[in-house]
Amino acid sequence: MITCPCCRATNTAGPACRRCKADLSLLFDAEQHRAQLMHTACQAWKSGDLSAAHAAALAADQLRHGSDARQLLAVIALRNRDFPAAWAWYSAVSPTPPRREGV
Ligand SMILES: [Zn+2]
Repeated sequence: MITCPCCRATNTAGPACRRCKADLSLLFDAEQHRAQLMHTACQAWKSGDLSAAHAAALAADQLRHGSDARQLLAVIALRNRDFPAAWAWYSAVSPTPPRREGV
């Protein structure tokens, strides 16, 4: 779903905004590219290629922040035993920062 930057209407189909008819084709293209990156990241994760999974998930998160990419990045960091990075990605997913007990 794309929120129109002109009128704030939510759009599920493009390329024009359903309300103000602004051209949203670039936003829809970017969202499609992000979905492809997340698919690539999940396939790489399943095949055990953590480096490729990390690169694709990071690219997806840089394109648009999202809990899906950040959750995957947290799990990849855990798998790599990079606990500070895992905590940072986990904290970025949570709407309220989690508390660190006993640290
Ligand atoms: Zn609009």
